[in-house]
Amino acid sequence: MPRIQLLNRVLASNDALAEEFRKQFDKEKITAINVMSAPGSGKTALIEKTVAHFKDKLGIFVIEGDIKGDLDAKRVLKAGGKVTQINTDGACHLDAFMLSRVLNKVDYKKLDLLIVENVGNLVCPAEFNLGTHYNVMLLSTPEGVDKPTKYPLMFSKADLLIINKIDLMPYVDFDFKALEKSLKLIRPSLEIIKVSCKTGEGLSDWYRWLTDHIPQTARRKPRNSGKRKAHSG
Ligand code: MG
Ligand code: ZN
Repeated sequence: MPRIQLLNRVLASNDALAEEFRKQFDKEKITAINVMSAPGSGKTALIEKTVAHFKDKLGIFVIEGDIKGDLDAKRVLKAGGKVTQINTDGACHLDAFMLSRVLNKVDYKKLDLLIVENVGNLVCPAEFNLGTHYNVMLLSTPEGVDKPTKYPLMFSKADLLIINKIDLMPYVDFDFKALEKSLKLIRPSLEIIKVSCKTGEGLSDWYRWLTDHIPQTARRKPRNSGKRKAHSG
């Protein structure tokens, strides 16, 4: 079978499994989010803050995806979260099959919010449906504003863009107007929230977004399930 066809078949079976997860999440009234960004944008920092803020109000479980090690899982644990680590052993994204190996550790009955931290990568995580309801993307100010133009697929799949490290704005070139302009071409309806996970600025906006989106689980349509290019990473 030609490579492209084979890869499309892999994506199709991934989608089928992800749809099964989605059905289970909806049945159990669980909201699931897929957190994606480049390495170092602050995904784990955001999750630490989120867990600490909501842990007494909501049932939360975190799945950490990394190529190697459990550094991030340890951080979430320290923040008071329930967490498990997936090591992809070289793969630069999570897929539904990897998720299926840890979802049996999750007690759905006690769960309101499932947070999946994807592998830090702006390319292929966007191609793999995990059955989650929302793609939450982070972009940190030191990364600059050219990323949507360079990695449009990731930004086109995002439901929310969190601009992190706004405390560094005085020291970096981050032209917010230019960012908005490029996003208009890629995903005009994209919501943006500016935060600093370090100082806490803006985090209340993120908590509000999350609270607003948690009860809507069952009414959401699947995302990430359209036709895509084959994955090669
Ligand atoms: Mg991380
Ligand atoms: Zn990959």
